[in-house]
Amino acid sequence: MDDDVGERIGKLYEASDVLVAVYDGFDRIRYANRAFRNAYFVAADEDPTWAEIMRRNHAFGRGTVLRVDDLEAWLISTQSRRGKTGFRAFETDLCDGRWLWMTETVQADGWMLCIASDISHIRADERAIRQDRDVAIKASYTDDLTGVSNRRFLTARIEQILADHRAGGAPGCLVVIDLDHFKLVNDRFGHQTGDLVLRDFANQIQSLLRRSDSFGRMGGEEFALTLPATSLEHAELILERMLSVVRASCPLAQYPEFSYTFSAGLTASRAEDTLSEFYRRADEALYQAKVSGRNRVHAYVDPIDTTAEAR
Ligand code: GH3
Ligand code: MG
Ligand code: MG
Repeated sequence: MDDDVGERIGKLYEASDVLVAVYDGFDRIRYANRAFRNAYFVAADEDPTWAEIMRRNHAFGRGTVLRVDDLEAWLISTQSRRGKTGFRAFETDLCDGRWLWMTETVQADGWMLCIASDISHIRADERAIRQDRDVAIKASYTDDLTGVSNRRFLTARIEQILADHRAGGAPGCLVVIDLDHFKLVNDRFGHQTGDLVLRDFANQIQSLLRRSDSFGRMGGEEFALTLPATSLEHAELILERMLSVVRASCPLAQYPEFSYTFSAGLTASRAEDTLSEFYRRADEALYQAKVSGRNRVHAYVDPIDTTAEAR
C-alpha cells in the first residue's frame, strides 16, 4: 500500500463516526481514532491499557456501562476471555446512552483491532433479549467461584492448540496445576477461607498471562493453562515466574505469615495428539512434580523405551 493511501486512511478514520482502535499484545492502546477517543475519554497523546481505561472511566461514571459491584473481579473475568479467540462481536453500551456493536479481531501475537458502530436506533426490546443471551454465554464460560474461565472454555483452548499444530503451526504447551496440601488450608482455616485462597491464586496467575495464553479452573483446586506457540523451555520460565509470585502472596490479612504453593505439570503438543493423550501427559508430569516434593514445575519426559534399549 502507498504511503499516501495509508495517510489518507488515517485521515478518513479520524473523520469517521465509527470507533476504531488498535491494542498491542499487552492490551495497551496503540491507535485510536477521534470517535473512539471521545467515547472512552482517551487523550490523543496517551496510550493507556484497556484495564486503565476501564478503571478510570468507571471511577468517573463515564465510558462503558458496567453493571458490576466489584470492578476488579469484573476486570479479571473479562480479561480471562478478552482477545483469546480470533474474532468476537458483542453489544456494549456507553454511559452517554449510546449502544455500540463492537468487534474484536486478534492476530496470533495478540495485537487486536476494535471497530464499533453506533446501533442505538435498533429496537430496545430486541436488545434486552440479545443482552440476556450474551450474559448467559459469558456465564457458560466462567467459573463461578474465581471468575476466570471454566473447564468448557479451557477445553476449547486446548483443542485449538492441537488444531493449530496439526495445521502446521508451532507446538504449544499445556500446563495442569494443582494447589499443594490444600486440604490442610481448609482444615486449618475453614472452607470459606480456602475459597479466598483459590480466588487469590486465580488473580495472581491471571495478572501474569500474555494475551494469547488462557487460564482457567478445571474443578476443585485444579487449574489449567494453555500457552499457544510456546516452547517447553519458555513455558518453564513462565511457570517459574508464576511459582515465585504465588509463593510471595499473602492472601489472608489476619494471618500475614500464611503462604501457599502449587505444583505444575507441563507438556508440549505433538502432531498426533488427541485431547485426552495431551492432557494425560500433563497430568502425569503433575504427578511427578507432586512426588518429587511439590512447589515446582515438572515437564513431561517419555518413559524409557525398554524395547528400544533391548535392541
Ligand atoms: P496435594 O495436592 O498437594 O497432594 O494435597 P491436597 O491436600 O491439595 O490434595 P487433595 O486433592 O487430596 O485435596 C484437595 C482439597 O481441595 C480437598 C478439597 O476439600 C479441597 N477443595 C476442592 N475444591 C474446593 C473448593 O472449591 N473450595 C475449597 N475451599 N476447597 C476445595
Ligand atoms: Mg492439591
Ligand atoms: Mg487436587
